[in-house]
Amino acid sequence: MTQTGRMPRRRADPKTVAQAIVLRRRDFRESSRLVTCLTREHGKITALAKGAHRPDSPLLGRIDFLNELDASFSPDRGGLRILLRAKLTRERRALRSPWRYLSAGHIAWLCDVASQEGRSDPELFDLLSGGLNLLERCPEAKIPQVVLGLELRHLDAVGALPDFDSCTECGDDLSNEAFRQTDTMGLACRRHSGLPRIPVLWEALQALRTLRSTNGRDWPSLHLGTSVHAAASLPALWLAAALEQRSPYRRMVFEGLAMRASDCQGV
Ligand SMILES: [Zn+2]
Repeated sequence: MTQTGRMPRRRADPKTVAQAIVLRRRDFRESSRLVTCLTREHGKITALAKGAHRPDSPLLGRIDFLNELDASFSPDRGGLRILLRAKLTRERRALRSPWRYLSAGHIAWLCDVASQEGRSDPELFDLLSGGLNLLERCPEAKIPQVVLGLELRHLDAVGALPDFDSCTECGDDLSNEAFRQTDTMGLACRRHSGLPRIPVLWEALQALRTLRSTNGRDWPSLHLGTSVHAAASLPALWLAAALEQRSPYRRMVFEGLAMRASDCQGV
């Protein structure tokens, strides 16, 4: 229904107020910074934090990587926005240990690559926020399985999680054996696997299924053992295909796992 002859009155552009997680920041000119945040309501926002380097700046110490803020930004007029105010609501100190930090960096990178400026994606925001909570609290030995679980949720959120219960060609049940297809990201039955056959380790697939069907907060208490390492290669392929980029941190997260395993053997 249109009201002819009456143009809607244009209100003054309201500033944007949002819950935000700092994804990136870099220096801008002498005393300012450019900060990129993921917000729940407005997607990714890159804004200028004016004078953030100055010792008397109210932004000092607040716009650090992965901090959570109540932030207000200048209205979106197409140009560079200004970070007007930032109240620190959460500083994730527990992520400062190297392995946790690396893992959190990897998840933040995934969310950064998958999100768009100004396009709201609450699911991705909740994934990052909830994922950081888990990575702060879980026992260190459980970090890889938490990261794998988060990767599966991430793939699901961006619509790139393959079906790993049935063959992509015929829909046959894959609960007993599955093969990787080289031309698609999906899994296939023996008949449709193509040659040479690349079998997927059963324990790896089971670990992924368990993570997929388990509530995130229960991931740390799962006993997945070495199947985590076996399972890690599949999401790596799926992520690389979905994002057309490789995470610079992922290899280090899972190398951390290998290093720990050898430490334990040495004891
Ligand atoms: Zn088939």
